[in-house]
Amino acid sequence: MTDSRVINGLSVDVEDWFQVGAFENTLKREDWDSLQLRVGDNVARILDLFDEAGVKATFFTLGWVAERSPAAMRAIVERGHELASHGYDHTRVFTFTREEFVADLAKARAILEDTGGCAITGYRAPSFSIDARNSWAHEVLAEHGYAYSSSVAPVVHDHYGWREAPRFAFNPVPGSDLVEIPVTTALFRNRRLAAGGGGFFRVLPYGFSRWAIRQVNHEEGRPAIFYFHPWEVDPDQPRVDGAPLRSRLRHYTNLSRMAGKLTDLLGEFAWGRMDELAEREKARAMDWAA
Ligand SMILES: [Zn+2]
Repeated sequence: MTDSRVINGLSVDVEDWFQVGAFENTLKREDWDSLQLRVGDNVARILDLFDEAGVKATFFTLGWVAERSPAAMRAIVERGHELASHGYDHTRVFTFTREEFVADLAKARAILEDTGGCAITGYRAPSFSIDARNSWAHEVLAEHGYAYSSSVAPVVHDHYGWREAPRFAFNPVPGSDLVEIPVTTALFRNRRLAAGGGGFFRVLPYGFSRWAIRQVNHEEGRPAIFYFHPWEVDPDQPRVDGAPLRSRLRHYTNLSRMAGKLTDLLGEFAWGRMDELAEREKARAMDWAA
């Protein structure tokens, strides 16, 4: 029996199989509308999986997806989960000017609130793209009334990372109520390892994630933040042959085993929505501004 007192944050980054960073040089943005939309069906599978496990979660969703799959947005809300923002079309925040970021946030929020019929107060930057280059993005989120952000990966990775950022909840904008909830890292010989999900969860043995979450829950007494994508539970998705081998390996490994692995993870630890977790973590968030 593991420690059920620590409720971890469960999140789904809702984007389709053709919207991932790994394929951005192979599949063009203009082609998205001609590709097969599978995200709605995959969200439905995930909702069933969550019901079976008896857990609630947060769905960080692209405005682009919400426009095309409004029924999935309503189902997320009706079944007791949090609908939150992942931006409009997965443009990384560090490529925006401040004005462009304001516009992207507002566009996504309006679509999500319309389709979900609820207020949107949580945000996750595409590819954890808030880092040392654009810490002003947190100011923008605070100015626009977001309660929390989960947009920082406090680790070095080939695509992202803010290695100096705190590993647990912090207040990035002094004087505001905004709390940043970084994605989980574990410590191994004083090095931070990305351990919050995505490809790591799917590709590495389940034992790695179990070790990392136990460390965070039991030794550090903090919640873990886990994320995955709808396309990861979809072994039948179209294959992108022209993509680099490294990207294909990362994207297609163990897709058929993902649902079973998730069921193990959901059964072994306690999970809940990110907005509720942010509310609990607020009291012990440290002030940390770049
Ligand atoms: Zn994403």
